Amino acid sequence: MDPSNTIFNFLNTIPIPTIVLANLKNIIVRITTVLALFNHGFDSAMDPNPLFRSCNNYDFIIVGGGSAGAVVANRLSANPNFKVLLLEAGGNPTVLNSIPAMATYNLHHPDTDWMTPSEPLTTSCFACKDNLIKIARGKILGGSSSLNFMVYMRGNPNDFDNWANLTGNASWSYENVLPYFKKSEDYTGNYPDPKYRGTGGLLSVTSKPDDPIIKDWMSAAREMGFKNSNANAYQTSTFFPVDLTTKDGRRWSTYKAFIQPALDRSNFKVIRYAHVTQVNFDSTKRAIGVTYIKNGRTFSPTASQEVILSAGAIGSPHILMLSGIGHSDHLESFGIRTISNLHVGDNLQDHVLSLAGPFMLNDTVSYISDRDLSMGAAELYLRNHTGPLASDAMAAIGLFSTAQPPEPNWPNLNAVLYPVGIHKSFGEDFDFIFGLKDGTIKSYVNGFIGRDANLLGFNLGLPKSRGTIRLRSANPLDKPVVDLNYFSHPDDMKEMIRGLKMLIKLYEKTEAFRKYNATLIPNHFPGCEHHILRSDEYYECFLRHLTGTTWHLSCSAKMGSADDPNAVLDSRLRVRGVKGLRVADASIMPRITNANLNAPVIMIGEKAASMILDDWERSTEFQGF
Ligand SMILES: Cc1cc2nc3c(=O)[nH]c(=O)nc-3n(C[C@H](O)[C@H](O)[C@H](O)COP(=O)(O)OP(=O)(O)OC[C@H]3O[C@@H](n4cnc5c(N)ncnc54)[C@H](O)[C@@H]3O)c2cc1C
Repeated sequence: MDPSNTIFNFLNTIPIPTIVLANLKNIIVRITTVLALFNHGFDSAMDPNPLFRSCNNYDFIIVGGGSAGAVVANRLSANPNFKVLLLEAGGNPTVLNSIPAMATYNLHHPDTDWMTPSEPLTTSCFACKDNLIKIARGKILGGSSSLNFMVYMRGNPNDFDNWANLTGNASWSYENVLPYFKKSEDYTGNYPDPKYRGTGGLLSVTSKPDDPIIKDWMSAAREMGFKNSNANAYQTSTFFPVDLTTKDGRRWSTYKAFIQPALDRSNFKVIRYAHVTQVNFDSTKRAIGVTYIKNGRTFSPTASQEVILSAGAIGSPHILMLSGIGHSDHLESFGIRTISNLHVGDNLQDHVLSLAGPFMLNDTVSYISDRDLSMGAAELYLRNHTGPLASDAMAAIGLFSTAQPPEPNWPNLNAVLYPVGIHKSFGEDFDFIFGLKDGTIKSYVNGFIGRDANLLGFNLGLPKSRGTIRLRSANPLDKPVVDLNYFSHPDDMKEMIRGLKMLIKLYEKTEAFRKYNATLIPNHFPGCEHHILRSDEYYECFLRHLTGTTWHLSCSAKMGSADDPNAVLDSRLRVRGVKGLRVADASIMPRITNANLNAPVIMIGEKAASMILDDWERSTEFQGF
């Protein structure tokens, strides 16, 4: 008999104590603090690349080592003739970031998450503490790809064809960006199709193995007339198992994929815990470097070719404004001299999120941590990275249209299946993840603890509401003012209500789920007791209370055509009105793509690097744009 199996069988009989599960988020937060302190100490003590110890002059400086910045850094430093510096405000990811099942517990920790508070929302988010959202985004190498839920979704062909139209640059069309998606990818999932999927790239993409509940999800969708095609081929309305950026049971962030393999290049330097405060310009408005603060000291390295901002949809507009690029009246109100008067921080977009369910099921087909997680799970993960810890809670996705008239080829509603039942600390855990007032979800699921269920997160893929980002002060360490402005366009609420009703039908009216007697929880959501359950008024009240972010902030320094007065960037991602400065991250999108953003942002990183290399490798005499 295999002795390790004996140990596993024994450990499998030992439940994880309830006290541990109930306090998991606090335990994780404490472990993260210790690991982050250790990382910081290690970073201060040594510089892994002696060649650069006293270097201050580089060819390219990249600000932010997140989803896009990591790709740009890897591709530029692959040319040994370029000296490349990557500045990142956070440190290395910790071991907890690599365990998929820990994803939700890694949020809201100041050492690895910026936790930028939004402005209080006045027409939604009523269940949120202080009516605002503490917007999670990675402050860590790999950026938000080290903190996210690992779903890999490219978006719809119409998204990119629309970008090509809006910028007047055909190189952004779906046909022309597809090779960049494929270039990054090493796909080992269930739907290989060489026309759409890449193999041998640096970014590992796998798919969730079909299990019975995913099969039910797909067959319920077929009963409602939807397809089960993979959305990362040619996307239309479809229900399918989720693709994930994982490898061998571990998160595959852009740190793992793009930064780690480049760390021993002698022309590449990464400086961690470096908070960039501004871009510096010469008298001709050419970007010549940046200023950053590390351990309380200020440094100003120079870039002979370009500075590339990849600080994300909040970070990049923030740095632009601090550097004198933005609405001139706004900048001057803080005493900042305008270098280029542009619409920085306008056009902010996000996929507003809410929940459908929980749908109660009368069979043991969901995962309930107090019932299903044992010490054996920990042993399995430590031994070979398998078992429940090797996977986050998402199982499958559904994309469909609730637009009026419907546009099935460009779905606007994105639903994610979490096959999780109601464990004992379900309410507390949920309030923590979404920053809700204490007791909100506990009261909503009252009477259903221990029941099997399915929960759906659903979000609006093509919202019409727009928010803004502005400076709070001229102090670079003050967090900017982020106004999410959800539901300011009336169509957004209507499309969300139609989506919610359609998902309730999927559970209650199809044979695939009727066999479990699937029923929407019959409790009122706290704050909406005065409405009749299942009325449109009730659903609107529910959505205005349980409003969340999908953490897909984007479009806040958009690219555009030469005649678009609101564009911050040209279609080669160069900041207008200055030289030597580009932006490459989620902020460059003119309109948000209809699904999750990590994959399109990685594509943006690939395409940005290719454009930069194109410009600088073309001619040794090229003196800049
Ligand atoms: C909790 C969460 C869950 C998500 N789930 C998914 C998902 O499952 N699937 C998906 O596709 N997308 C998901 N997303 C969204 C996706 O991860 C992001 O849209 C994407 O990573 C953004 O990439 P980016 O390069 O624009 O910014 P980021 O990846 O956030 O990178 C920006 C980097 O810049 C650094 N930085 C910022 N300011 C400064 C400064 N002043 N000085 C130095 N460095 C700075 C940051 O620390 C960070 O490392 C999620 C996001 C979050 C936060």
